[in-house]
Amino acid sequence: MAIRKILRYGDDFLRKEAKDVHKVSKKIQDLVIDLLDTMYASNGVGLAAPQIGEGYRVFVVDVSSNDEPYNPIVFINPKIIKKSGATISREGCLSFPEAYTDVKRYSNVMIKALDRKGRSFVLEAKDGTLLARCIQHEYDHLDGVLFVDHAIDKFEVEEQLSKNNLPPLEINRILEEKELDEEINKLLEKIDTKNENE
Ligand code: ZN
Repeated sequence: MAIRKILRYGDDFLRKEAKDVHKVSKKIQDLVIDLLDTMYASNGVGLAAPQIGEGYRVFVVDVSSNDEPYNPIVFINPKIIKKSGATISREGCLSFPEAYTDVKRYSNVMIKALDRKGRSFVLEAKDGTLLARCIQHEYDHLDGVLFVDHAIDKFEVEEQLSKNNLPPLEINRILEEKELDEEINKLLEKIDTKNENE
C-alpha cells in the first residue's frame, strides 16, 4: 500500500476524537496496511490512525526488537477494560520528531479490540512493559490525547519542544490524573523505603 505522511504536533487533527469503525471493510484493512507500512518506515513501535489524518479508532503496535521477526498487533475499536499499577516511562511519538519526556502510565492494562479480520480478542500487558506503555500511548491518540499531556516535568517538555521546533506545550491539556498520581506516589514511596534500607 502506501507510506503516509505523519501529522506533526500542532496539527489540530491530532486533538480530534476518532470514530468507531462500523465494519472492518476493505477500506479499513487498507488503512491498517498503511499504518503498518508507515510505522515500519519510520522505525516506530506504534501508530494510530489519527496520526495519518484518518479519524478512525484504529492503531497498530509492534514492540519486537530488531533481531526478532515482525510481530504487528492491530487494534480496531479498542477498549481498555482494566488498568492498575503505575510506572514512569520515557516516551517519544512519531508526531513529535526527536522530542522525548517522562510520562505517567499504568503498569498493567487489559484491552479488548477487534483484529484486522474483525475478530474480537483480549490482550493483557503487564509490568510496565513496552507493550503495556505503547498500548496506552496509541489508545490516547484515538481520544486526541498526546503523551505530553501526561508529562511529569513541564519544563523539560517545553525545552524538548522548542529545541525541535515544535509548538509550545498546551498547558490546559495537561491531565489531572488523581488515580494514577496516587499509584505513582506509592511507587516513589517504595523506592524511598528501599533506598533507606540500603
Ligand atoms: Zn504517538
